[in-house]
Amino acid sequence: MSIKNMSIINWFKNTFTVLREAGKIKEYEKISALTEENTNLKKKLSVAEQKIATLNEEIYQKRKLEYRNESYWDNDDGPYCSRCFDELGKTIRIHPNYVGSNFSTCPKCKTQVNITGRSDFVQTSTPNHRNPGR
Ligand SMILES: [Zn+2]
Repeated sequence: MSIKNMSIINWFKNTFTVLREAGKIKEYEKISALTEENTNLKKKLSVAEQKIATLNEEIYQKRKLEYRNESYWDNDDGPYCSRCFDELGKTIRIHPNYVGSNFSTCPKCKTQVNITGRSDFVQTSTPNHRNPGR
């Protein structure tokens, strides 16, 4: 049990004691009912969140998106931002940082990924000492 839940229970016990001593059992019962309702709503929310995750998975299956190089691809279509898809279920195309770059950035969440797995060649002032990458 989390500390947060413990403190809620302690608060609840203290409130009950105070209300009982004040002869306000009806108020206690009302708080008790509301607390139970709150717990039920949290359970329903959890179920709904799991349902969303399942539906996202179905979309993923239906589109046959493939995860590679930190992004999703639909065969040659893509790449799509993995963060936006996993979190929001949306296929957001990510854009190369510049023409020919191995790095792309999501226009929505600004996540930057390497879509080829290769490092960008950094041009120096002396072309004869080129760094081949890996
Ligand atoms: Zn994104």
